[in-house]
Amino acid sequence: MNRKRRFALLLAGLMALSACQGKVPGSSSSEEAPAQASAQGSQGSQEGPSSSREISPEEMAAKPLSQGDYVEDAEGKKIYQGQGTFFDTFDTVVTLTYFAPDEETFQKYLTYTHDEFLRLHKLYDNYHEYEGLTSVMTVNRLAGQGPVEVDPDLFDILEFSLDHYEASLGKVNIALGPVLSLWHEAREAAGAHEGPGDEDQGSTSGKEVRLPDKSALEEANRHTDLAKLRLDKAARTVAFEDPKMALDLGAVAKGYATEKVAKGLEAMGLKNGLLSAGGNVRLFGYHPQGRPWKVGVEDPKTNDRDQALAAMKMESGSSMVTSGDYQRYFIVDGKRYNHIIDPGTLYPATLYPSVSVVAEDSGLADFLSTTFFLCDKEEAARVLENYKEQGIDLGVIWVDFDNRVTTTDNLAGALEVRD
Ligand code: AMP
Ligand code: MG
Repeated sequence: MNRKRRFALLLAGLMALSACQGKVPGSSSSEEAPAQASAQGSQGSQEGPSSSREISPEEMAAKPLSQGDYVEDAEGKKIYQGQGTFFDTFDTVVTLTYFAPDEETFQKYLTYTHDEFLRLHKLYDNYHEYEGLTSVMTVNRLAGQGPVEVDPDLFDILEFSLDHYEASLGKVNIALGPVLSLWHEAREAAGAHEGPGDEDQGSTSGKEVRLPDKSALEEANRHTDLAKLRLDKAARTVAFEDPKMALDLGAVAKGYATEKVAKGLEAMGLKNGLLSAGGNVRLFGYHPQGRPWKVGVEDPKTNDRDQALAAMKMESGSSMVTSGDYQRYFIVDGKRYNHIIDPGTLYPATLYPSVSVVAEDSGLADFLSTTFFLCDKEEAARVLENYKEQGIDLGVIWVDFDNRVTTTDNLAGALEVRD
């Protein structure tokens, strides 16, 4: 499916506002349709599509699409249920459902969400520079020559990623940029697949499809030592001891941004809702109509939002984030190469098609979804232990190549798997 078509379907999904009473197909639940915690590049719209229309690029780049209505909460009080979608951040679709006292308040929340996502998208961008702003790409260009002052929201995500590096067994390294960009170039040259059903692209497109050179990967890997990233908290500066170092925040940026925006919205007064950035799903409070919030685990084989593989009943205020091999990949000699790179082999991870993490903090859930995607079960147990020692409760959902679903014990009662 091409991107435009997918957006069209999403819009249709958005328009099906009332569809809060669907169910996981094949399941016995009669509760709410789950939002999808799909992997990068796809998105978690709350409702299933009913009809579709094409969206022009202009429309996609303009202000967020929104619609809504007044509904009754569990006590019969009138509240505004609004939905919004925008397409211009983090190379993905952001969808949201917010419950507000009135439409004006909803619009205020929506505008804030969009503005903040745009700002953070630019800050965390390692492929573009922007006037009047120091993005990751600007840092990559300058930090080898000396300290570069950065925005607090960029400094914070760097600190956060350093703090969690060890606990993740060094699997997620934000200084892996030189290696990741070689894979990025290979994917771009091949015309990366955007997911199942997108087989008209990639290896059959006539573009050059080849793997990065092993020697080039090894040379690039000489410049990925995270210990050479120097952060000065007092001056809020970043410096590279190795001028060839480069940062890539792709493993954590969307989730981190989602959590930041969510915290901002809570400070503004938003109490109930759901925010999904490319499948980084963050919940606010409880469902005002007394239903449980559910988030779907996408089927990696079909990527079909209407046929979630499983639905997770979520605690209020929690997050679920998925890393998958089925959204961004290219094919060489019949083999699929995804976008998550094992720092040990310098090649894409091959352990699972999808891993989801449930945690309170959406930034941590994103960082760890990539981590667990790269960990075998024994390593995963060590990571879980590391966080348990810090008092952080995590849930993990693994999908294997036969679509079998396994979870950490703490999720067993909350996950409903499709028949
Ligand atoms: P996610 O979809 O959250 O699992 O993140 C995948 C993205 O993280 C990729 O597109 C890269 O930008 C980046 N990435 C891939 N592998 C790694 C790694 N081992 N360490 C740090 N970042 C990575
Ligand atoms: Mg991640």
